Amino acid sequence: MKPVNKALFPSIVEKFQFDGQFVGLLPYGSGHINDTYSVIFQMDEHINRYILQRINTDVFCNPVELMENVVGVTRYLHSAITKAGGDPKRETLNLIPTVDGSYYYVDEQGGYWRAYLFIENTVTLQRARNKADFYESARSFGRFQLLLADYPAETLHETIPLFHNTPNRILQFQEALQADKKGRADKVRKEIDFVLEREEFTHVLVDLQAQGKLPLRVTHNDTKLNNVLIDAGTGLGICVIDLDTVMPGLSLNDFGDSIRFGASTAAEDEPDLSKVNFDLDLFEAYTQGYLEVAGKVLTDAEIDNLPVGAKMLTLECGIRFLTDYLAGDIYFKTAHPNQNLDRARTQFKLVQDMEEKWDAMFDIVKKHRNK
Ligand code: ATP
Ligand code: MG
Ligand code: MG
Repeated sequence: MKPVNKALFPSIVEKFQFDGQFVGLLPYGSGHINDTYSVIFQMDEHINRYILQRINTDVFCNPVELMENVVGVTRYLHSAITKAGGDPKRETLNLIPTVDGSYYYVDEQGGYWRAYLFIENTVTLQRARNKADFYESARSFGRFQLLLADYPAETLHETIPLFHNTPNRILQFQEALQADKKGRADKVRKEIDFVLEREEFTHVLVDLQAQGKLPLRVTHNDTKLNNVLIDAGTGLGICVIDLDTVMPGLSLNDFGDSIRFGASTAAEDEPDLSKVNFDLDLFEAYTQGYLEVAGKVLTDAEIDNLPVGAKMLTLECGIRFLTDYLAGDIYFKTAHPNQNLDRARTQFKLVQDMEEKWDAMFDIVKKHRNK
């Protein structure tokens, strides 16, 4: 992406239906994908703040379909929250239309811009300070699933085709292995075998879906803690943000990805595997929060398979890192030549740890279902 040309700001800001007199604009937040700004307007004594974002079109090459998904889901959430007696200006993202009545503006350099109401008095956390933060994020993503339970998920665009089709990830892995472009395969035979031994497992969820046993849902696909706005005063999860990857998919994908990332005791690229463990307490905190809120709309098959979702997404992510390592680090950004391998190894360590704690994971699900 070209850097944002600051000279364009005045013309971009005036394309949106912002209320009041323009005061200023500042880079905002710590997102890694889009360019995010807070924009300040003044109306009498009031300050109106907005979020203005340029979509990263290197990552999302179909911004129009992406925005159609965001419009569909935020509109639906707005009405579902209103019906439930909540505050739709705080509990979902609200897009600000352009003066032409569109929901995005294309600048003269081809940059796609959109704007949201700024949700005040909230924080985002990069890492959970404690179990309660992780539990709150589970409740927020659970609420997202609850409110969208009747949304016609098949009408959403699949903006990243086959994103969580794990058998397809295995095919890509096998292609990279065959090509072995960087001659790295010999060094990672153990990891390669780890993947191949679990090839059959990778079919479990896609098979259940094909048999009609798992429903198609609206999925978020980036269910990290920092994509939930937390109320600065109460610490409660308020709003799920960052809807760029909203797509049709399995609820278990979102659940699994949260666990993969949030229930590990170490960073995703920790080279010392003795520090990398799957934390059952964190798994329990998330499972409890998620089921408390989404439990009433999830099917028995979805709830039964929560541990499978956790293991599937962790394995899939490890396969993607190993594939990229074999292909020469072309997809994930790396700071050193072994980083993708370190990342793959942490994921496989977590998978192994989950396999050892497999029965305990199912016991936790049993304990928190039907409450
Ligand atoms: P990521 O790296 O997670 O993909 P991103 O680049 O896609 O991030 P967002 O997560 O959409 O960007 O937004 C970046 C940050 O801006 C958020 O972490 C949050 O702090 C802030 N933010 C986004 N939308 C709002 C909003 N409506 N109100 C208040 N703050 C917001
Ligand atoms: Mg984000
Ligand atoms: Mg994002």
